[in-house]
Amino acid sequence: MIIRNVRILGGEPADIRVQDGLVTEIGPGLLGDDELVDGGGAIALPGLVDLHTHLREPGREDAETVQTGTQSAARGGYTAVHAMANTSPVADTAGVVEQVWRLGREFAHCDVQPVGAVTVGLEGRQLAELGAMADSAARVRVFSDDGKCVSDAVLMRRALEYVKAFDGVIAQHAQEPRLTEGAQMNEGDVSGRLGLTGWPAVAEEAIIARDCLLAAHVGSRLHVCHVSTAGSVEILRWAKSKGWNVTAEVTPHHLLLTDDLVEDSPGGAYNPIYKVNPPLRTRSDVEALRAALADGTIDIVATDHAPHPVEDKETEWSAAAMGMVGLETALSVVQEAMVETGLLDWAGVAERMSAAPARIGRLSGHGRPIEAGAPANLTLYDPSARTEVDPSAFASKSRNTPYAGMTLPGRVVATFLRGKPTVLEGKLV
Ligand SMILES: [Zn+2]
Repeated sequence: MIIRNVRILGGEPADIRVQDGLVTEIGPGLLGDDELVDGGGAIALPGLVDLHTHLREPGREDAETVQTGTQSAARGGYTAVHAMANTSPVADTAGVVEQVWRLGREFAHCDVQPVGAVTVGLEGRQLAELGAMADSAARVRVFSDDGKCVSDAVLMRRALEYVKAFDGVIAQHAQEPRLTEGAQMNEGDVSGRLGLTGWPAVAEEAIIARDCLLAAHVGSRLHVCHVSTAGSVEILRWAKSKGWNVTAEVTPHHLLLTDDLVEDSPGGAYNPIYKVNPPLRTRSDVEALRAALADGTIDIVATDHAPHPVEDKETEWSAAAMGMVGLETALSVVQEAMVETGLLDWAGVAERMSAAPARIGRLSGHGRPIEAGAPANLTLYDPSARTEVDPSAFASKSRNTPYAGMTLPGRVVATFLRGKPTVLEGKLV
């Protein structure tokens, strides 16, 4: 197959020859009898990698399944996703992670790399079988109780020590539980006016600071999930200046949206579409997160794709589930927040949405530069398109997006997983 007329990382037009799942040749005007795909001048990126996806299977197949979640991922330009462990049953044994891994292989819209729970049942009392999950067919390297914080310092220390044996990483959901009891939204002016229980920045920052110190103390790898405050950025900058092995992610929604939306949005106040964990913060937090992603203090963008059925989301604020879907809008939101603002170029986007998440998750077949010999995991993206977000067109089973009706830049034209198209002309294959 020859993919004609694409601009690799936004560079000069070129053709890409793909054979047996690999990129074999790159250059202008490639010849041959191969099947042709017209790239139409789109930007070619290495297939995106998400370190933080909730696929909901097993247990909440009404919200998402491995099949619909990976279709959603492919439509968003992803060729690999890490599936979070807070399923039912929890992915805290080799059996459950292997089940999720097999479902991913069966549907093959993108690679599915299960994340293992840190503690049994996400209960924060006893370490899960980390070694057995690492040795299983799923070869788990990322462990997280995401949705809950590993708040016990001794358990967190043991987990960090344990995963060193197989080059694993603990991905922490940084939320001090006592400081966030009953918390509903960012603690600040808006929460005060709306009378909603505040979620203070310090609840995130205190855990990040503690965990950076623990990771340094035991010489292990820490990854911080969905960083949301300017103070967290400062702590990460300090930890990195020490040379500690700490990485961090930010979600697309924390790069674009603020807590004002809870008070004042087209849907009126208290619209639960904006209820998310961690909460949307302030404009100055958003500015700090963008700057941190640009200068490398925050390493990657991760979606925290969190599908919920209508009945769990379209209810009163206090009862609504926390979370937003994100796979199908991530690249457009990053273009809006980071590229249109001049903070990142396309090479910078490829580093933060493909290469670095693959490195952190130890996925050797993903995130490689587009060059001869690399697996043909590719995303073709048209940044000049303008699309009104229509949730009913999502491949995801859930519709809980904060961008419905918004016009966002860019469109994923095609996605290739080891040379096989999963999306062509914007549609699932
Ligand atoms: Zn989380």
